[in-house]
Amino acid sequence: MMILCGRMTAVTYKAIRSVRMRIGNDGNLIISAPKGVKKSYLENFVREHLDWIEKQEGKVRAVPDRSVFDGAILRILGEDVVLHIVPSTKDSVIRNGAHLFISAKNVEEAHCEKLLENYLKKEALALFTQIAQRYYPIFQARGIAMPKLSVRRMTSRWGSCTPKAGTIRFNLYLYEAPIKCVESVVLHEMAHLLYANHGSEFYAFLTHHMPDYHARHHLLEQSVKI
Ligand SMILES: [Zn+2]
Repeated sequence: MMILCGRMTAVTYKAIRSVRMRIGNDGNLIISAPKGVKKSYLENFVREHLDWIEKQEGKVRAVPDRSVFDGAILRILGEDVVLHIVPSTKDSVIRNGAHLFISAKNVEEAHCEKLLENYLKKEALALFTQIAQRYYPIFQARGIAMPKLSVRRMTSRWGSCTPKAGTIRFNLYLYEAPIKCVESVVLHEMAHLLYANHGSEFYAFLTHHMPDYHARHHLLEQSVKI
């Protein structure tokens, strides 16, 4: 096993001419490489194919059960939170430590799902915005405007940046991850305001401002399945 671009990768060296790559059933990357190929070459290879890899990983991952019911266990920022659904005369969602209370006029699952989704989106956006504002001075110094952030459910990536429009979308599921993972994704997406691709300059920028970037990304892949 080798860690390439923060991903656990099984590398075997064979008498072949070019690098071959696939995703195993466990979601880990499997690479066959010609004998004598250096780790730095493989790292670049993986980096260049990140879009493809992320797409494949999205297909392979077993999606966890996120049903909304009384007693369900939610993940918020890496912690388990117990969901309580209480009939009420008005709708509200309140968190108290390891408990989240949905008071609902209608306790049917679809209605509670909607209340929970709205709550999580609002909380996630507030947190992601706060983190983005913390990193913003790095970008402001380079003449970049503060990006407009939004949150929605996505099935194959943690975030996406449209530099021309100055917009960044984050995956709502990112809110399930430990905060250090959230920070790594926020910085990653903001870095696209300066660098369009996942080139070596892009990663040099990330690791300059966040030396443990790859470890955080690896932790993210381990902690949340989307
Ligand atoms: Zn990216």
